[in-house]
Formats: sequence, structure tokens, C-alpha cells
Amino acid sequence: MVSVVVKKVDSLGLRSNVIVGDERTVVAAIGDERNGHQETLSSLPGVEKVVPILAPYKVASREAKPESTVLKTHQLTLGGGHVGVIAGPCSVESEEQIMESARRVKAAGATGLRGGAFKPRTSPYAFQGMKEEGLKLLAAAREETGLAVVTEVMTPSDVALVANYADVLQIGARNMQNYQLLQAVGETDKVILLKRGMSATMDEFLLAAEYILDAGNQRVALCERGVRTFESHTRFTLPLASVPFLHERTHLPVVIDPSHGTGKASLVPSMCAAAIAAGADGLIVEVHPQPSEALSDGAQSLDPETFEATMELCTRVAVAMNVKIG
Ligand code: PEP
Ligand code: MN
Repeated sequence: MVSVVVKKVDSLGLRSNVIVGDERTVVAAIGDERNGHQETLSSLPGVEKVVPILAPYKVASREAKPESTVLKTHQLTLGGGHVGVIAGPCSVESEEQIMESARRVKAAGATGLRGGAFKPRTSPYAFQGMKEEGLKLLAAAREETGLAVVTEVMTPSDVALVANYADVLQIGARNMQNYQLLQAVGETDKVILLKRGMSATMDEFLLAAEYILDAGNQRVALCERGVRTFESHTRFTLPLASVPFLHERTHLPVVIDPSHGTGKASLVPSMCAAAIAAGADGLIVEVHPQPSEALSDGAQSLDPETFEATMELCTRVAVAMNVKIG
């Protein structure tokens, strides 16, 4: 039945994109809406209704798929009553550092392990990451703990390499509008964690997600990590209203990054709790065995003890929100 609709859509000179949901399958027909194919499509067998999607992000929009998308990989679940917690250092620095981080965050209840192997640094002289060596260490940490590995990919030519080791490919804020990279990760079967560009509007953010969806990968999570404002008391300004706003506009899960969002470790626990209260489907938190020794983002990294206390706080908020951590 779906294939008949897809064939018809294609024969009308439109592009089809099939979104499989639990309750219904949506065939997005992308093209010029003024051609009035609505009636032809409505009369096909199995078609419940034909709805024009007004949002520019057709496949990402809540109109196209009213039910929320739930993403799962290894132990990590984002959405569907689960708040997935991804924790770990900003960068992978050594075997000891990543293994210790993995064990500690796992013990505290995280289900994903973060750690950059390819680092987008403002200065070319700053630590650039351990590259493939770092990816191998992340895979070894998953082997021991079962945590899903979340790590950044910076360029299309590295996608195959990073996808070989990672479960979740992170697109960093600085690359949100790198359209070739978005298309390249859209051709993988990995979960994609798309970070909001630090000056991107919500429409630009959702259209960036649309590139990934349009390339064929439906497993996209949106990450609010703070934006640039006139304010300087925090590294970025973290708009938690993004969570309910994005839930109105899109079916994709929403993850909050309070570490980059504030830049200050002391502010991170409260923002984790607030993100869950706002309805976030996941958190990504920087945790380092010794934040003062970190090669990147030490000032915003929690030590393992503080992370444990933060998870306890989050669990209490999660009970009130009727969701589960993990
Ligand atoms: C990171 O996760 O360490 C990172 C570089 O994040 P962002 O792209 O949001 O700055
Ligand atoms: Mn960082």
C-alpha cells in the first residue's frame, strides 16, 4: 500500500520521504504545493488523508508526524518517557581518563558516554583531540560498560571512520549549517545529535535537521546548547523555553546541554533539573575525573561526585514529571 503511494508521488514529479510511525505511516510528498495533487493522492487506497504541511521543515514538523519520535541505541533512550543522560568528558584524553569517566557516569545512572575525539577548538593551538585513537578508547569503554558512545564528527570525510566506532554522531554547534556534513550523516544509520548553532534561529535549526532527515536518516535528536547574547555572566545563554517550543514544532527528541549552555560547573546541576522540568528528552553533561586537569572545558565539567548528586536531584524531578532517567 505504501509503495503504491510512493510510486504515485514520484510519478507526479514530487519527492517522497516515508516516515514510519507506530500508528500510521506518513508519506511526505515534497515539491511545489500549487500543483493541486491533493485530490489524486486522497483517492489512493490506504490513504487516510492528505495534509498540506505549512512549516518549511516538512519531515521534521509535528504536523507531518504527530507522535513523538523515540530514539534508542545501546542503553540510551531519548524520549517516550525516558530522559537519556549522556555524560563524560569534553575530550577523550587518555585510556585511564575515559575508562574512569565511563565507570563513574555509568554508576551514577548515565546511559550514554560522551567524549570528543575530533575537537572543534577556537584556537588552532589548543588540543585538537586524540582522533582515531580516541575513538578506539570510546569503543573500549562501551565494551566494558554498555554505554552508548556519543562523539563529534567534524567533516564529511571522517563520517565513515567515526561511524565505525560511535553509536551517536554529534554535529557540533559550529557545524550546524555545514550542509555537506548534514547530508553525509544523513546517509548513515546512526543516531545524530544535532547541536544548535550559537547564533541559529529555531527555523534554521529545524531546517538543518531537515537536511539529515531528507538524506534518509530519521534518527535525529536536537540539542539546545545555548546561544550568543549580550550577556556575559555565562559562557552562552541557555534558553530552556526551546524544549516546549521544539516539542510544539517537531516530533524529534530534545536534549539539553547545560555544560556549554552555562560554561560554569556550579550552574550545571540546577539547569539539569530545570531541563527535565521543562520536558527535555535527554541531557548531555560534561563530567571529568579531575576537572582542573581537563584539556578542554574544565571550568564547566562536573567532578564525578557532583554528577552523582546531580543525578539524584534529577531523579526527584523526574518522578514529579512522571518520566524515568535512563
Ligand atoms: C562539545 O560538545 O564539546 C562541543 C564542542 O559542543 P558545541 O558544539 O555545542 O560547542
Ligand atoms: Mn566541550
